[in-house]
Amino acid sequence: MSVAVIEKEFRSGEGISSRNSGVIHAGMYYPQSSLKTKFCISGNKLLYKYAKNKNINHKKIGKYIIASKSSELKRLKDIYDQGIINGVNLELCSKDKTNSLHPELITEGSIFSPETGIIDVPELITALEGDIQHNGGLVSLNTSFLKAIQKDNIFEIQCNDGKEFAIKSKFLINSSGISSEVVAQSIEPLDSRYIYPISYARGHYFKYSGDHPFSTLVYPVSDEFTSGLHVGFDMSGQIRFGPSIDWVDDIDYSFDESLKENFISSIKSYWPSLNPDKLQPDYVGIRPKIQNANEQMKDFSILEPKDHGIRNLINIQGIESPGVTSCLSIGEYVTNLISKN
Ligand SMILES: Cc1cc2nc3c(=O)[nH]c(=O)nc-3n(C[C@H](O)[C@H](O)[C@H](O)COP(=O)(O)OP(=O)(O)OC[C@H]3O[C@@H](n4cnc5c(N)ncnc54)[C@H](O)[C@@H]3O)c2cc1C
Repeated sequence: MSVAVIEKEFRSGEGISSRNSGVIHAGMYYPQSSLKTKFCISGNKLLYKYAKNKNINHKKIGKYIIASKSSELKRLKDIYDQGIINGVNLELCSKDKTNSLHPELITEGSIFSPETGIIDVPELITALEGDIQHNGGLVSLNTSFLKAIQKDNIFEIQCNDGKEFAIKSKFLINSSGISSEVVAQSIEPLDSRYIYPISYARGHYFKYSGDHPFSTLVYPVSDEFTSGLHVGFDMSGQIRFGPSIDWVDDIDYSFDESLKENFISSIKSYWPSLNPDKLQPDYVGIRPKIQNANEQMKDFSILEPKDHGIRNLINIQGIESPGVTSCLSIGEYVTNLISKN
């Protein structure tokens, strides 16, 4: 098949994929039957293999999930139990062991995940783009999808790359991330019952330029909606804290520096020797949630013809974390859906 990727920005991955933590997750947080777990666990293995083959900068540095208060130990054990049910390789560490490993942190216990790591996401995107092109596909940058109408089982897709033009395609895959609601609304005859409204959950990151004791990722125990202000690394070893979470009405990547006080108190709850002067604004990402602030976590949504009744359309929404980890598995899954049709 010939494939065309329509990308409105000047380079691929300028959306959510440019503004995340770059963590290769292991898959302990979500229910066993969810697509998030399934794709995260298979995607983790595929991504390490792909990164190795393509020489993409990555490191399997491991991650500690820490409880800093005894009241968090139940949540810690729940995450561990879920991870074991999901088949993830994890170690539950006692307070003594955690304190001996991380003497500078306030901990009551931890989980160690050896399969968690980090990856250079821009390099990953470049490699994927290269694969598309080497296999005869086209990545059309600076090209906006405007609308698509299906007639006689063929989609006529209206685009704009400075001027309007149309292309024809048997299959159409909507994987436009934060714009997936707007794009889906422009596909005829997709019924609005099958389109999730997207809510925007913004996340801020602060980078840290001082000395620090971290050599692995460290995640405070999370609640249901966030993974907490974790310690992350870029590939040069620079550490950063985040993402926070606040729900916003617009796609706005401007940095709210007033959040610094919240970051300081949150980080100090597990790392008291943080030097606030060394904490600097870094960047903002926006999660494309298909639930609102008051709803339970929803799974990735990949709707196929048997779900929405339109032949040869795959409508993908809600690809938030662990979307980077899952990307190759999602790709395989969607390829199988296309082959089936
Ligand atoms: C704060 C944050 C932290 C995260 N951390 C992690 C992590 O550590 N590990 C992990 O596994 N996942 C993480 N994720 C999730 C991960 O980043 C996403 O799941 C993933 O990047 C989504 O990729 P995507 O291709 O669906 O969306 P995008 O990368 O946004 O790609 C969609 C593309 O569609 C294009 N587009 C949109 N509308 C149009 C149009 N009309 N015409 C043409 N092109 C269009 C956009 O320009 C964009 O390039 C995080 C997400 C956030 C927000």
